[in-house]
Amino acid sequence: MKRMLVLGALIVVGALSISIAAQQAKQVIDVQKVSDNYYVLTSSTPGNDATFSGGNVGVFITNGGVVLVDTKLAGWGQTFLDRVKSVTTKPVTMIINTHTHGDHTGNDDKFGTSVEIVAQENTKTNMAKMDAFKGDKAVFLPKRTFKDTLTVGSGSERIDLYYFGAGHTNGDAMVYFPALRVLQTGDLFARKDAPRIDRANGGSGVAYPQTLSKAVATVKNVDIVVPGHAPLMKWSDLQEYQRYTADLLKDVQTARGAGKTADAAAASITMDKYKGYTSEGMKLAVQAIYDELNAR
Ligand SMILES: [Zn+2]
Repeated sequence: MKRMLVLGALIVVGALSISIAAQQAKQVIDVQKVSDNYYVLTSSTPGNDATFSGGNVGVFITNGGVVLVDTKLAGWGQTFLDRVKSVTTKPVTMIINTHTHGDHTGNDDKFGTSVEIVAQENTKTNMAKMDAFKGDKAVFLPKRTFKDTLTVGSGSERIDLYYFGAGHTNGDAMVYFPALRVLQTGDLFARKDAPRIDRANGGSGVAYPQTLSKAVATVKNVDIVVPGHAPLMKWSDLQEYQRYTADLLKDVQTARGAGKTADAAAASITMDKYKGYTSEGMKLAVQAIYDELNAR
């Protein structure tokens, strides 16, 4: 009995120190200044639950207020709000969601109901299926949607939103700031790894390379690419990622044509010529492409 009590006390102490560590870690969201009126809130690399706060967030400060591109994970609300306040005293007036996932939409409800929330129309449909936007939270669903393109603001405050087709989901917006020559890609280009293809939300590994090739052909004058979950990159990195997704699809089709299982295909596809890439998402990506091809 005494031993049980000691053990119980140890577990309590252990749990306490874990939660203190989590609290301390939750202070981590890094602010990266790109220009006087545009910042990126990082700490966006998945894998470590103590520091992963959700996708990269763009903070664009205009005369009329602050435009946020994405809003990280719900559990990081206060730290996220503090970080936004650390770069501007202006109120948030608009939120652009690049896509539906909770690590990009988690704090849409933290800035009041007068904030204009903008997303591609399929993303609004996908968000409406999430528990986070049901019941009285439905007021935080996007009020303004677009199909292919939408421009908000003008002059140096202009923002161009683009939808190029299915990829990570069926509602991925790319967000371009012409005056800054910055493009936020959302999770269409999350990091240098095999793409995550969310078929339940309309994602497509077959369409992925075409979607990215439209992006590469359409958007001009980009110096800085802000990916969904990795440090800032260059335009050439996005061009390379388009080639990566095309090669991945080709290799999967070849392996499938040769009768390989999805697992065998994933094990055999190396993508070695792409330097600096990891393959953590390879198995899931290959499986998703197999599922999509098998469903045809
Ligand atoms: Zn995502």
